Amino acid sequence: MSKVNCRCGEVITDIESPCPDLLLAMPDEKQWSVVQRVLDSLRQEHPTDHIAAALAVASVLIYKCPSCGRLLVFWHGGSAPYSSYLPEDSAD
Ligand SMILES: [Zn+2]
Repeated sequence: MSKVNCRCGEVITDIESPCPDLLLAMPDEKQWSVVQRVLDSLRQEHPTDHIAAALAVASVLIYKCPSCGRLLVFWHGGSAPYSSYLPEDSAD
């Protein structure tokens, strides 16, 4: 994912790293497999790269629109369509 268009017209990019608008949510059922991959990564060269990859693969990508506050949730990976959630206290 490099950019995503929010319904409000804002274009969110994740070129900047770390991306301030990107959240990673990990399903509880995946936490122990990720812990094991993190422990395995500690024995490899460049462990932080492997750890970051393990977290990204196991997580649901969520972008928070800096303009309207919508959460754009990619339940099925970054290339699939996203679900959009607008905070209830929003004027939109
Ligand atoms: Zn927006």
